[in-house]
Amino acid sequence: RVIGVPREIKDLEGRVSVQPDGAAELVHHGHEVLVERGAGRNAGFSDGEYEGAGARMTDGPDEVFERAGLIVKVKEPVPSEYDRFREGQELFTYLHLAADKGLTEFLVERRIDAIAYETVEMPDGSLPLLTPMSEVAGRMATQAAAHCLESPSGGAGLLLGGVPGTPAAKVTIIGGGIVGTEAAKIAVGMRAIVRVLDINPKRLAYLSDIFEGRVDLVIPNRARTASYVAESDVVVGAVLVHGAKAPKLVSREMVASMRDGSVVVDVAIDQGGCIETSRPTTHSEPTYVEEGVVHYCVANIPGAVARTSTLALTSVTLPYLLKIADRGVEGAARSDEALAKGLSTLRGSLVSEPVAEAHGLPH
Ligand code: NAD
Repeated sequence: RVIGVPREIKDLEGRVSVQPDGAAELVHHGHEVLVERGAGRNAGFSDGEYEGAGARMTDGPDEVFERAGLIVKVKEPVPSEYDRFREGQELFTYLHLAADKGLTEFLVERRIDAIAYETVEMPDGSLPLLTPMSEVAGRMATQAAAHCLESPSGGAGLLLGGVPGTPAAKVTIIGGGIVGTEAAKIAVGMRAIVRVLDINPKRLAYLSDIFEGRVDLVIPNRARTASYVAESDVVVGAVLVHGAKAPKLVSREMVASMRDGSVVVDVAIDQGGCIETSRPTTHSEPTYVEEGVVHYCVANIPGAVARTSTLALTSVTLPYLLKIADRGVEGAARSDEALAKGLSTLRGSLVSEPVAEAHGLPH
């Protein structure tokens, strides 16, 4: 089978879907790998490394899309890529179809067989191809907060962990899932005073075990959230209600009650955000100040650390990619329960029930 790795063209997207050692693995399985020149550059992989791994480089995307039976990407196809797809081609990438009716209809009409990374689901309900990006975003959230607290960034001029003889900054993390847990780990490591608010007592019990008393764990209500936010130097928004918009848990009034130069990092911004004053920002202009508080609300945080994100993503996608390359989308989905959950479109039909419901389409 011919596997195609195009260069990502979405704005500021530096990740690549296959790294050179993954290409070598595919070649070892008897496949031909076509990589668009420059595809790995922003993640620190040169064309030479891919060639050394046995991949063939192409000038531009034309040959990749014309010859490959299976296209592997990171981000969903953008409209300027649509026309490159051929009928019957296979696609393995992040798709976020529930949020994109146009792309859904396109994949059905063009009869693309597609598996979406973010919907590949293990029997225990975990999402193995989404988790690493939440881990990256969680760790980055604390790093970004520490940076925003510095005076040149407009912050209060606080060192997150302080030094002996000074108080450490107080960090309140709302939502103790993957993002919240990783944000807490880094904040604890930087010696901040950390509390995590989550409505799921089971999750809090788990966090209690892993943090062994170094993090305050709280089941929130409005009044509790308000008092924690008011005395925090940093608030991190990290809630997720599966398949829904994030609930607004921190009001404008609560943000205004924070000391000037404090910091809000709303990681949940990609689902609309859980803080009333937050709006999406980009890596080129990541922050703005509202109610005297520095807001960092970048919607694709992992993009800033393209190499780490690529290594984390491709490590978990490769075993699935090998299966798809060896057996095709349909065969791989039949033989692997997790991949079956990720199957979005097949031979001109919409297979994913939640996507069909989101758009009122037949399936
Ligand atoms: P997750 O499902 O692992 O965790 C979400 C947590 O929120 C759960 O523990 C849940 O109990 C908790 N929660 C739900 N409602 C709550 C409420 N009312 N109050 C307190 N806690 C509540 O999800 P995750 O992987 O940690 O992702 C969190 C958010 O970060 C999602 O919106 C995700 O899309 C987003 N995210 C953003 C980026 C980015 O670049 N901005 C990157 C990765 C993930």
